[in-house]
Amino acid sequence: MKLIVGNWKMNPPNLAQAKRLFSLVAKGAKNLKGVRVVICPPFLYLPYFSSKNHLFLGAQNCFWEKTGAFTGEISPLMLKSLKVKYVILGHSERRRIFSETDVMVAKKIKTALDLKLNPILCIGEDLKERKTKKTRIVLKKQLKGSLSGLKKEKLSQVILAYEPVWAIGSGYPCDAKEAKDTLIFLRKFFKNKILYGGSVNSQNARFYLEAGFDGLLIGGASLKAQEFIKIIKIASLKQ
Ligand code: PEP
Repeated sequence: MKLIVGNWKMNPPNLAQAKRLFSLVAKGAKNLKGVRVVICPPFLYLPYFSSKNHLFLGAQNCFWEKTGAFTGEISPLMLKSLKVKYVILGHSERRRIFSETDVMVAKKIKTALDLKLNPILCIGEDLKERKTKKTRIVLKKQLKGSLSGLKKEKLSQVILAYEPVWAIGSGYPCDAKEAKDTLIFLRKFFKNKILYGGSVNSQNARFYLEAGFDGLLIGGASLKAQEFIKIIKIASLKQ
């Protein structure tokens, strides 16, 4: 079963547009077999949506504590109460703009797992690291750091997303052959589902699925209902 995750980031700008986008995607994804779709809207929109058929709700982040004096944070317990099933953790935008470290991501993953939320852990090298051929070192470090302290049996509930930072939102997707080589490398350390993310669209989606990725993490293209539905349909055929 392929997993297609839509990360809306800080979009769309109002609830009416968010509702319209969600209902179009829900309609388009209805009755498709072999694919599970996860929509990750901004927190504020979550209460207006619910999981239907193969469509599930995800969040874009959460905090590692369950309650307390943490101004501005969102508890995984709150996500649970809204029937959220997945949570993206360690996205490169969180790491880069909000200075999240592997240690922080590991704490978040642990709490999410304790509460039976499925974490989608993002890792990826930036352009400089790629140019200096440090990709594998960086990925191994992020993977090890973000999963540190986790019991082995819990690892099987983590979903990994390989997202080369230079490919995210850039319009320059990673070459499928290069992505496949990285996937083979990651498989040595990580046995559960691995997704690809970074400028995926309906033209290139199938290359990553054919390369062996278990699904896709999609930003920009998840905001265009018809484009996103096309990708879901491609994944459904690749089950
Ligand atoms: C992302 O935000 O995780 C992402 C992959 O974005 P985009 O598809 O726009 O590159």
